[in-house]
Amino acid sequence: MSRPRVVVIGAGMAGLTAAHRLQEHCDVVVLDKGRGVGGRLATRRIGDATIDHGAQFITTHSAEFALTVDRWVNDGVVASWFRGGIGPEGALDPDGHTRFRGSVSMNVVAKNLAIGLDVRTASQVAALTHDADSWKVALVDGSELIADAVIASSPVPQTIALLEKGDVVLTSSDAAALNAIAYDPCIALMAVLDGPSGLTEPGAVDPVEGPIDWMADNFLKGISAVPSVTIHATPEFSRAQWDASNEVIAEALLDAAQLHSAVISGSVQIQRWLYARPSVEHPERFLRLSDTPLFVCAGDAFGGAKVEGAALSGAAAAAVIGSVLGLE
Ligand SMILES: Cc1cc2nc3c(=O)[nH]c(=O)nc-3n(C[C@H](O)[C@H](O)[C@H](O)COP(=O)(O)OP(=O)(O)OC[C@H]3O[C@@H](n4cnc5c(N)ncnc54)[C@H](O)[C@@H]3O)c2cc1C
Repeated sequence: MSRPRVVVIGAGMAGLTAAHRLQEHCDVVVLDKGRGVGGRLATRRIGDATIDHGAQFITTHSAEFALTVDRWVNDGVVASWFRGGIGPEGALDPDGHTRFRGSVSMNVVAKNLAIGLDVRTASQVAALTHDADSWKVALVDGSELIADAVIASSPVPQTIALLEKGDVVLTSSDAAALNAIAYDPCIALMAVLDGPSGLTEPGAVDPVEGPIDWMADNFLKGISAVPSVTIHATPEFSRAQWDASNEVIAEALLDAAQLHSAVISGSVQIQRWLYARPSVEHPERFLRLSDTPLFVCAGDAFGGAKVEGAALSGAAAAAVIGSVLGLE
């Protein structure tokens, strides 16, 4: 019997986890529109600086994900950054949870997961259509893939748009569930400094007021060869300043940051994360579309946010596909 063909949209934590679980029994292709893998597990190099500008750390609350992270620690993929919560002044508020960072960057966690998978980057899905048994996944470059099952781990509004482009008719209950999901935006600023940031070990602050939601020193974090900071704006600031110029955004955030050293000229970069974190989640770990060939929506908006939620959602999506297709 031929192996089922599965297309996974998105090479972030959810999509890569799902692909891993399925590859033994299926022909799995992972498509991502980005130049590299990782999605919001994102790292940028600016000069000699290494800057995590999406997810900052990984925590574990479930036994299942704790086992995965233990394995990553043993394999040298992640390392402990600090234990406890970060306060407005950077002080640790012990909550018992270790914050893990990628050993060299957060993006490396995704790169490690992608080893051995058929991952195609710079491959943007344009539309999804189906007949009675299978899906046609049309890419922006004009190519297409036929799949017996699809896992969409793209942020939900983007998944809805792909289905609409292909005139896929959703049941009213699926449409209501997907349209209920919402995300907060986040504007992220990256900058290289000519000296210490002024933050203290372990290198992060979590302000309670002002435009900054979180600030981290990538040098103290242990991933950057030179002083560099990541500044995440609050959802409120991000919404209000979304269309402002990078210069205006940088001035406001750097002014609030009160860094102890100067920003190296030309080193500031801004990333706008439109779908940064789910603000309204779906209560279950995945949503399987009704009345279509096998199609499962997954990602951090399903049943638990963050990197952990994305991993558990990807695993649950793979499990439902395995069970429907009768895979061992
Ligand atoms: C600023 C910020 C800070 C965060 N901090 C933390 C933190 O400290 N700890 C934590 O646990 N979590 C944090 N998170 C959340 C965490 O990053 C996410 O929960 C998790 O990475 C989501 O993984 P995912 O696989 O669900 O989605 P994503 O990582 O977003 O992956 C989805 C992928 O789909 C791809 N895609 C979308 N549309 C298409 C298309 N049409 N064709 C092909 N590919 C497509 C995208 O390119 C993307 O790679 C943070 C997120 C942000 C943005």
